[in-house]
Amino acid sequence: MTGLLCYCRQGFEPELAGELNERAGQVGVAGYARAQRNDGYVLFVTDAADAMAQRLPWRELIFARQKLRVLAELPQLDPSDRITPILAALHGHARFGDLWVEHPDSDAGKPLSGLARSFGNALRPALRKAGLLTDKANDKLPRLHIVFVDGTHAFVTVADTRDSAPWPLGIPRLKLLPDAPSRSALKLDEALLTLITPEERETLMQPGMRAADLGAAPGGWTWVLTRQHLRVTSIDNGPLRQHVLDTGLVEHLRADGFHWKPETPLDWMVCDMVEQPRKVAERMATWLREGWCKHTIFNLKLPMKKRWDETRLCLDLFAQQAERPLMIRAKQLYHDREEITVFATATKRR
Ligand code: SAM
Repeated sequence: MTGLLCYCRQGFEPELAGELNERAGQVGVAGYARAQRNDGYVLFVTDAADAMAQRLPWRELIFARQKLRVLAELPQLDPSDRITPILAALHGHARFGDLWVEHPDSDAGKPLSGLARSFGNALRPALRKAGLLTDKANDKLPRLHIVFVDGTHAFVTVADTRDSAPWPLGIPRLKLLPDAPSRSALKLDEALLTLITPEERETLMQPGMRAADLGAAPGGWTWVLTRQHLRVTSIDNGPLRQHVLDTGLVEHLRADGFHWKPETPLDWMVCDMVEQPRKVAERMATWLREGWCKHTIFNLKLPMKKRWDETRLCLDLFAQQAERPLMIRAKQLYHDREEITVFATATKRR
């Protein structure tokens, strides 16, 4: 069995399966998604896993927290010796730069964390002895992931370190700082880490830039922007926390985020207003079309049903109505629940 194994938020397997099926078709790869609700992962079965992995970068997948290429599925492991079949599956393979033993982030997967830890400690020396693992972690080489979905069923998979989440389980463990005004602050922190590469961040977000935050109260996203030394106009009828205002970088306006516009163009606009996703997508498109901002990060709250269809529809609507070339990336972040986060930036007009 070969294919791709992607992790997702538990309950979002149908969305990830829908996305993988559709994107595979678009990039000319034959195969099908194998998914069960609440598994926390989806398997895309295909003979062309290499081609699919290359054509669908991890950053461009919306519902995938991680993207792994499957080398083997071992559905009936003997608990008294799980190592031998894994070594056999890897026979002849080039050396890996690291080993992560993981499990899906699901109700069934989480109890496997103890097994994953102890099995990793046992497997590591066996891999080194077989010449399959470097002595020290080396991120220039592919990373081996052993994914347990139960105690006797594992996938032997590999990640390209330049095209995968750099966090175990695909989850960035961000710490909520004590003076963060809300847990939402973690969403914008995660978006900046996940949707934008470190090189892009350096040029796109610089001290002194000007931003608007639509739906800003109590101030989590505004606070994240001020920590990057941006000047922020924060729009919300609700109050902002005093220490956010005390930064001296923030102007708070009690206005409607769907009507307010800046007097002069800004670098950034972020938006966390809880509203119909199509309405948000249209307003965000207006900002880019009119040139009111160059870059944006916004959330789209997803409905209960047909969430993949709604995602695609809103992103298409956004791209069309912006009426200019854009680079758009979207992800369901770890800190997103029933929503996705979108990053878009205007690219040069052709
Ligand atoms: N991002 C914020 C943070 O990090 O603290 C949390 C935002 S909260 C999820 C949504 C906010 O959107 C609420 O404070 C609400 O008042 C605001 N909101 C909803 N509709 C709005 C509108 N039409 N104009 C301005 N603010 C709006």
